[in-house]
Amino acid sequence: MKYISTRGNAPELAFDDVLLTGLAADGGLYVPKEVPQYSLEEIESWRDLSYTELAHKVIYPFVEGCVDSDALKGMLEAVYNNDNFGHKAIAPVQQIDHNEYVLELFHGPTLAFKDFALQLLGRLLDYVLEKRQEKVVIMGATSGDTGSAAIEGTKACKNVDIFILHPNGKVSEVQRRQMTTVTGDNIFNIAIEGNFDQAQDMVKASFGDQSFLRGERKLVAVNSINWARIMAQIVYYFYSSLNLGGPLRPMAYSVPTGNFGDIFAGYMAKKMGLPIEQLIIATNENDVLHRLMANNLYKVESLKHTITPSMDIAVSSNFERLLFDLYDRDGLALADLMNKMADRSQPVELSEENLGKARDLFDSYAVDQDTTVATMKEVFAETGYLLDPHTAIGVKAARVCRRNPRIPMITLGTAHPVKFEDAVNRGGFDMPKLPHHLADLMEREERLAILPADLKTVQDFIAKNTFKD
Ligand SMILES: *Cc1c(COP(=O)(O)O)cnc(C)c1O
Repeated sequence: MKYISTRGNAPELAFDDVLLTGLAADGGLYVPKEVPQYSLEEIESWRDLSYTELAHKVIYPFVEGCVDSDALKGMLEAVYNNDNFGHKAIAPVQQIDHNEYVLELFHGPTLAFKDFALQLLGRLLDYVLEKRQEKVVIMGATSGDTGSAAIEGTKACKNVDIFILHPNGKVSEVQRRQMTTVTGDNIFNIAIEGNFDQAQDMVKASFGDQSFLRGERKLVAVNSINWARIMAQIVYYFYSSLNLGGPLRPMAYSVPTGNFGDIFAGYMAKKMGLPIEQLIIATNENDVLHRLMANNLYKVESLKHTITPSMDIAVSSNFERLLFDLYDRDGLALADLMNKMADRSQPVELSEENLGKARDLFDSYAVDQDTTVATMKEVFAETGYLLDPHTAIGVKAARVCRRNPRIPMITLGTAHPVKFEDAVNRGGFDMPKLPHHLADLMEREERLAILPADLKTVQDFIAKNTFKD
């Protein structure tokens, strides 16, 4: 499988280069050149497969030529098993009303759906780097779920050092401990005396000028612009559909959305042939996508901090991958649009035709914080089931936007509520217990370096710990 850039002016790459490259050289994102297509009969024949077996069917075509089939099988077995995911079904479905479900994606090591991709990404990186005899440095900034999932995913990697920056004192204790208590001599947590944006800016500056790594190592990004993450997320759309009677009947999905990675995976599943009747973009008050869909006006606003921090984004990077298809894969035309979008002084609109195409594919809805908590209460009163606030946004959007009550509606359950104390408290709920494998999280020893928000200090710290001798 070859990959091309959404902006039409960067070299085609094979999977291993895409895995190690963040943005394409022309500023675009990599997407597969062709999307594998499956007939209903073929998909139907996958009905009895385990999660791991199904993952192999879905993922192998995207990595073919770079990852050997048996090696992929080994990685999938090492990731999607009952020791790593605290549920035998890996991605179980929970019913919350007649024909309405939550797809529980929070049984992995850090209790959020990001484990599905980052657990596999760590193994893919190590495999590819081993073959190439290279080592890399992962650098990222996090205000929540990505950092811990990336650390858990790469802790066993021999060829990767990982440095995760978070704003000191500004992430919840559970989230901080999920990062700082992971042991491994390739893991470095840096608490920046500053805010998330400062941390993020230092990461961006370091990717822009990597000379502090002396040309001996490359930086790798593990945020959701990395194609491998999306690829891994396609699997659970197939898995949940097959478990509820698909592909012979269509499904509807509601997806709590931030960077548009998770829902883009659903769109990919649909392109591959899975009958998906409806895809709902559910956002919080950071609703740039909902405003675009509703009013055909793309205008970036300043970030609001909400009780659903993992969806607090001003710009949804992966939306570019959808736009590429809406523009009939004309990269140069899209580059032009993206330049307009990057100039935040002017709002941008899509052509009527392209907006129409987007509206045929997606519905959207934005949920404010009071409604988020009200939805947690509503579902708890109806079923005794406590949703995390991100998932609650998905459920609310599903209930508002649903088009056909005969089609099963599946909301992606993106995190476990125990991670989001503010929302649990606001709803007046008892704090749920930490799952078994994290039961002693509050007693474990923490390891982190507290550094000033100064680029040179941070880069020196990284260099010193990367080149130990
Ligand atoms: C990352 C995250 C999201 C948003 O997913 P995107 O792929 O960025 O759209 C939603 N909910 C939770 C809990 C997350 O961690």
